[in-house]
Amino acid sequence: MPRKLDLRSGRPVWSAYRAPAVPTTALARDAKADVLVIGMGISGAMIAEALTADGRSVICIDRRGPLRGSTSATTALVQFEIDQPLTALARMIGKASAEQAWRRSRLAVSNLAGRIAELSINCRLSRAPSLYLAGTALGPSQLRDEAEARRQAGIAATYLAPAPLAARFGIERDGAILSHGNIALDPRKLTAGLLLKALERRARLYAPVEATTIEDSAKEVVVATRGGPTITAQHVLLATGYELTDIVPAAAHRVISTWAIATRPQPRKIWPDAALIWEASDPYLYARATADGRVIGGEDEDFIDEERRDALIAGKSLRLARKLGRLFPDLDTRPDFAWTGAFGTTTTGLPYIGAIPGHPRIQAVMGYGGNGIAFSQIASEIVSAAIAGSQDSDASLFAFSHRQQRHKQSLIT
Ligand SMILES: Cc1cc2nc3c(=O)[nH]c(=O)nc-3n(C[C@H](O)[C@H](O)[C@H](O)COP(=O)(O)OP(=O)(O)OC[C@H]3O[C@@H](n4cnc5c(N)ncnc54)[C@H](O)[C@@H]3O)c2cc1C
Repeated sequence: MPRKLDLRSGRPVWSAYRAPAVPTTALARDAKADVLVIGMGISGAMIAEALTADGRSVICIDRRGPLRGSTSATTALVQFEIDQPLTALARMIGKASAEQAWRRSRLAVSNLAGRIAELSINCRLSRAPSLYLAGTALGPSQLRDEAEARRQAGIAATYLAPAPLAARFGIERDGAILSHGNIALDPRKLTAGLLLKALERRARLYAPVEATTIEDSAKEVVVATRGGPTITAQHVLLATGYELTDIVPAAAHRVISTWAIATRPQPRKIWPDAALIWEASDPYLYARATADGRVIGGEDEDFIDEERRDALIAGKSLRLARKLGRLFPDLDTRPDFAWTGAFGTTTTGLPYIGAIPGHPRIQAVMGYGGNGIAFSQIASEIVSAAIAGSQDSDASLFAFSHRQQRHKQSLIT
């Protein structure tokens, strides 16, 4: 059986805003396409839009329906700043690779903003500076080193000592790195917008349809679905989020839990420039504002017991409200919305993207953790290049073959 997680519970803030409806149909008979995309979250939507723009025939399926997985729960700080600081990542994978991963992530956020503008998708995109606050993982002197390492890699970063941090942003902390180039958006509006573009270019969207088994040969891939019909494609894309199928190498990945709250709108109380905030702590607090002035804050914890996770919503909401209140004493931090979800992480903070070893026609996209959306953009670039028969120059940085730990022949068992 394919793995099924309880991806989210509670009421994400995005339910307060309308996202365009994405029409789907039932899969009544066998179907064929150049590419089958499994999963209609933000990763599948980005790939479907890119492949249809390249002129490919695309089928998308989802066992729940479009926008029904983790994508509706994300807090959608779209940051190039990878969860793993550049200095730490360099110790794990080497300086050159770490710098390249950071630079590619930077490019991805800028490419995504350009793509949204070009497609005229109204997803309330805002450009905001970001502040990486000194915390329990990196103190002021390590933050200075981190800022210097980023600058050496060509990524602008300014270290702010406590006085300028307080003067400019009203935040009392031991220091912070100020960066520019990140964005924030409404993830449901973006995902729906991308799927609607793909639909305009004749993508076929079927839901609810669950992929149960996948068989590949030298010339095609045949996917069986629950309920009967099969789909045959030249390439299959597994954009199944944190619900990994058994064929995907487990690699160094872990599913943990995350909680978030959103306050009532209070646009006059938002801190200068509505900077995206995250802490150099483990677990770390992250915060942003929405276009209408709500404040969203979130934090992770390293366990996956779904019942315990859900039972903790009330307690975690209080804790988040208190933490936000300490950062911004003038805010009304009482939650209007509170929710929780599964959250994938890897030890390096980097995603896995590309063909499954031994299965060149099956690609997987796993955009992990706090940079999931930026990584989905990188995935759509790498995968569409591979399907076009060329190779993205950073493909090996994110490939499964480099970091594979186990490999099962059976696909979804
Ligand atoms: C509370 C929270 C906060 C977050 N904050 C951020 C943030 O600030 N910034 C950021 O970049 N990222 C953040 N993330 C991560 C981000 O949400 C994810 O990276 C992103 O949503 C993953 O999108 P996806 O399309 O890969 O997965 P999903 O949205 O989960 O879509 C996968 C889809 O695949 C379908 N599927 C699975 N298996 C099958 C099958 N066998 N057959 C058919 N369909 C199948 C599922 O039904 C699902 O709809 C956050 C996540 C959470 C939960």
